[in-house]
Amino acid sequence: EGLLGCPLDKNELGRNSWSLLHTTAAVYPDKPNQGQQEDMKQFISLFSRLYPCTYCAEDFQKDIAEHPPKVETRSALSRWFCDRHNTVNRKLGKPEFDCDLVDERWRDGWKDGSCG
Ligand code: FAD
Repeated sequence: EGLLGCPLDKNELGRNSWSLLHTTAAVYPDKPNQGQQEDMKQFISLFSRLYPCTYCAEDFQKDIAEHPPKVETRSALSRWFCDRHNTVNRKLGKPEFDCDLVDERWRDGWKDGSCG
């Protein structure tokens, strides 16, 4: 990568986007108030319309329509994003991620301490 950086390709955009989405879910409140729940629904809806890969965004919107966002708790939201990511993993022929490990991956760090 050049000193000043370069435009993202589809995979870099995807990795960075999933990082933002899973990390946002990891710090979402355990007991969100009505406004926080509405904000998250709007964020997801707008994200799915603005995501800068058109056919990715179209499929994501369809998946969300079939599986409406679960914004009632942090753990439900983290699981919901994990499930949506697995939908994309399946579509791309990638292995599915074990969603029981989503907090270790995106919030707490691995139990073996490898995240420092
Ligand atoms: P990524 O899939 O980017 O994952 C990054 C890291 O997240 C992994 O290393 C793993 O530690 C962790 N992870 C993996 N699965 C999960 C999970 N289920 N839950 C939690 N953590 C997980 N690419 C396309 O080619 N076509 C598409 O249609 C497409 N649609 C996309 C739609 C959206 C909304 C987003 C955000 C991305 C999309 N992408 C699409 C990009 C694609 O999902 C990957 O980001 C890209 O292929 C790079 O993959 P990767 O192997 O680096 O890991």
